[in-house]
Amino acid sequence: MNPPAEHTPEMVRQAADAITAARPSYVELITFYAHIFAAQEDARLRIRLPAIHLSDELIRIKHREKLPLVMTSEMVIDPQASENLLKELCRITADCGSELAGAAQVLCGQSSKARALFGPFLEAQESDVLAGAEEMGVEPKTLAFFLYHSLRPSLCTCAAQLAEYLDPSSSGEQGYCPVCGSPPAIAWLEGEGQRYLFCSFCWHKWPVNRAQCPFCGSREQQGLLYLYSEEEREYRVDACESCRTYIKTVDTRVLGRPAYPPLEQIASLHLDLKAVEAGYHAGVPTVLPV
Ligand SMILES: [Zn+2]
Ligand SMILES: [Zn+2]
Repeated sequence: MNPPAEHTPEMVRQAADAITAARPSYVELITFYAHIFAAQEDARLRIRLPAIHLSDELIRIKHREKLPLVMTSEMVIDPQASENLLKELCRITADCGSELAGAAQVLCGQSSKARALFGPFLEAQESDVLAGAEEMGVEPKTLAFFLYHSLRPSLCTCAAQLAEYLDPSSSGEQGYCPVCGSPPAIAWLEGEGQRYLFCSFCWHKWPVNRAQCPFCGSREQQGLLYLYSEEEREYRVDACESCRTYIKTVDTRVLGRPAYPPLEQIASLHLDLKAVEAGYHAGVPTVLPV
């Protein structure tokens, strides 16, 4: 059984509509990504994964040493569902007439070759992915975009299954994903001000201390800054003087509209510009191929 998905395609579309109503300059970008994310949430319903069993002894060590449960290369995927999604994402991209439309058409006809690269991509075997890109006639970063987004529903599902093994008494100090060890993409404030981070790879959500840099662990109150504007009280940038790194934060308590974390990451690109201008660098850069 798959764990219940937190988001539905309809929720993605509602979140996208709310963003584009508030920020018309994002219409093209958000419309494209809303199609991609909605297709992923739809695909998630059909993902079938082999169970991953972690032994009690291994779990004890992971909890004691505060290690992530697995490496990204150990995550399991549904190759058939991912290949089907790859073809769907190629169709969406071609229909949107985006800059990637040509590459999408090329890839769509070679989905079985792309499928053979799911494993090397997860294992970060860059030379295999580069060779595959050359053979298929697409840019490596374009291929990586399609491979990752075809795998994302599997990765989210795998992370949700693995989350059962997490230490419920975690200290809230982990600045990396407790499931796969990747850095956070975006932060969320909820309820009484509880802060959560979302993994940039498997999108697992985990609670963390509010006043602590996720990247260097600094708790120096004077060194943790917030950049924000009065017109956008739902967004802010949390920057750290110690490591000069920032993460964007969405305050869902003042958002007043449906939200989907990967869309918010894209809809706040103007904050990345502000933070970079102010001399900080992103913990995880929001790199978009389009
Ligand atoms: Zn993760
Ligand atoms: Zn820091």
